[in-house]
Amino acid sequence: MRSIKFGKPMIGKEEIDSVVEVLNGDILVHGPKAKNFEINFGKWTNSPFAISTSSCTASLHLAYFHLGIGKGDEVIVPAQTHVATVHAIEFVGATPIFVDAELETGNIDIDKIEEKITNKTKAISIVHFLGMPVRMDKLMPIVEKHNLKLIEDCAIAIGSYYQGKHVGLFGDLGCFSFYPVKHFTTGEGGMIITNDEDLAHNMQKKKAFGVDRTHKERKIPGIYDVNMLGFNYRMSELHAAIGIEQLKKIDSFLKIREENYRILHEGFSKIDEINLFKANQTNSIQSHYCFTVLLNKKIAKYRFDIVDYLNKNGVGTSNYYPRPVPEFSFYKEKYNLDFRLFPNARRISYDGISLPVGPHLNSQDMRYIITTFKNALNSIN
Ligand SMILES: *Cc1c(COP(=O)(O)O)cnc(C)c1O
Repeated sequence: MRSIKFGKPMIGKEEIDSVVEVLNGDILVHGPKAKNFEINFGKWTNSPFAISTSSCTASLHLAYFHLGIGKGDEVIVPAQTHVATVHAIEFVGATPIFVDAELETGNIDIDKIEEKITNKTKAISIVHFLGMPVRMDKLMPIVEKHNLKLIEDCAIAIGSYYQGKHVGLFGDLGCFSFYPVKHFTTGEGGMIITNDEDLAHNMQKKKAFGVDRTHKERKIPGIYDVNMLGFNYRMSELHAAIGIEQLKKIDSFLKIREENYRILHEGFSKIDEINLFKANQTNSIQSHYCFTVLLNKKIAKYRFDIVDYLNKNGVGTSNYYPRPVPEFSFYKEKYNLDFRLFPNARRISYDGISLPVGPHLNSQDMRYIITTFKNALNSIN
């Protein structure tokens, strides 16, 4: 029997050596590794500015804080996403206004955005769901018409392009995650990319206490001023050292993901009892974060039996995401929204099974997943 993990960090000798090198030196924060990682990530995404942070959640919080969004403001956000996308809005005291997903891609249903815009709306937050870019040609006119800020959650969209431009560069900024099972890892870590120079410089300060000068800029050590409120959301040199090495491998990781995804898509297209998201869209390249299968109504009630069969036979699964955010207890208690507002987000959460395509797996693993899934269906029939 195979053992196919849903996600596995691809840490090699290069990453280990690089961390050891940092540990043997005497700069653990504020050093050249974080700076170089920013430069390299900026180059790779073709972004003029990149800001390393301690996580994607920290990046998102920093974004709303920097943009001055807060109490009394509303932010439009997809109901189908990681809770961090929404928590970041709550952190600054603003109100999330949830919009359902479209079933074609799992992305926010753009047709349902404008009806939610009020005079309190300050921003739209989008998530490029499972690496499939949101249709930016359709979204941007709405953002511009209503003069809104746009925050892109690109946590699972490293390598996603729309009309040749990396996601994260359409709005005010884009936030990335280097959590272990994402496209690549730094242990924990995040990155913000932006076209806006002022925003970049300002956020660099706000992620480090609001101190007005970096170590290099200090004429006398330990002497500085603080001219704004700020967090400690820096990325350490240890994390950045891992990131630099991982980034060198991302092109090969993405290639394997694409091929694995292609095999699963081909195999699963022939299974009647399920629906799939679109594999591709015009004008876009997706990053193939994972492969999600939506069980049709007849077999959806057997979802946990199927998951159990897959797991027992060595196929790791996950759920992106386990509930629409308004149905997590915290949000349910706070806002008490009618679940019928989010039928597509519910379908994705409650009828979906996410399967792995990561670079730790090969084409034989993919064929094994397809066969095992078919066997699982037979076992419930
Ligand atoms: C994982 C994830 C996050 C959180 O990223 P961290 O780096 O763990 O803070 C945010 N948004 C989405 C869409 C995610 O999948």
